[in-house]
Amino acid sequence: MPENLQVGNVTAKRGKLQKGIIKGVELNTTTSIDIPILLMNGAKDGPTLLVVSTQHGIELQGAEVILKIMREKIDPSELRGAIIGIPVENPLAYMHHQYLSWIDNLDLGGGGSASPLTADQPDGTATERLAYALWQEAWSKADMVINIHCNTRPDSLFFTEINVMNPKTKERLERMAEAFGVTTVIDRTLFKEDGPPTLANLAAQNGVPDILVELIDGRWISEPSTTVGVRGTLNIMKAFDMIDGEIEPQEGIIVIPGPCKWEGIVRANRGGLIRFLKPPGDFLRKGEVFAEIYDLYGDVLEEVKMPMDGYIWAYPCGDILGTPGSMQTVQTGANVAYVFTQEKE
Ligand SMILES: [Zn+2]
Repeated sequence: MPENLQVGNVTAKRGKLQKGIIKGVELNTTTSIDIPILLMNGAKDGPTLLVVSTQHGIELQGAEVILKIMREKIDPSELRGAIIGIPVENPLAYMHHQYLSWIDNLDLGGGGSASPLTADQPDGTATERLAYALWQEAWSKADMVINIHCNTRPDSLFFTEINVMNPKTKERLERMAEAFGVTTVIDRTLFKEDGPPTLANLAAQNGVPDILVELIDGRWISEPSTTVGVRGTLNIMKAFDMIDGEIEPQEGIIVIPGPCKWEGIVRANRGGLIRFLKPPGDFLRKGEVFAEIYDLYGDVLEEVKMPMDGYIWAYPCGDILGTPGSMQTVQTGANVAYVFTQEKE
């Protein structure tokens, strides 16, 4: 941790909290769309933690978590290490209440595409340039990353997802997930040293553990997301000795003992309105009906069934323009449920 930590246009001396921006892109009005940052340089030595939210522009909850942590919970004179907080990573998505950047319909993190957006394009499109600036100014300076997303509905399960296939980050990611304390989903996608340089891949290739956190009820700053997010983030900081204190177990939410395995998306075969018969977190048997799609006369068109013994973690239905969870309706091929199982050790 340096004597003076510099990110974007801000420099924080030891024991100080500063705010500023990472320079972003310019609109046709010449208005600059920059990325606001908070920078806390602790008085004592320790790791640099980057906490980011709102890579997807409608997933707000993490912004509040970052502000609570950096403005209320942590005293820089007590902090060992540093925190870089980025409440809204993609202002081009956030400004239009959209999941993706309105200007080029791209995902800053490279999600949802066969040729993902990478963070190595200083001469690229608007969103590629934001990703490049984020890598240069923030991600590349971090020793670990907490990347906060949100499922849309308030009944979704909280979870963290970690990829354990990279020996350089596996052990620290497992410690981070355990400390955060919600349901943990293990990603066993093969780690490639030469994978496309998305923000997440660049972090992994540089040996920086990057944990994905999914809070719930993304569009509204609400409980229990704020409390769970703040508690989990503070727990990670305790686990890595950045602050004093005992790790606090998560309370008042469903936690499925793990590790758990992501099984994919159940999709609709018919279109119409949809009702849900089982809450996320219930154990369901293969073939059990958990939702019904019905027409505008009230006739049931499809009973949606569980593909295996396992759990639903969220109902991301109503997807449009890459935005899950906008309305309680589906068309053929639309997302109905995210499904996971408990991994057998
Ligand atoms: Zn997201």
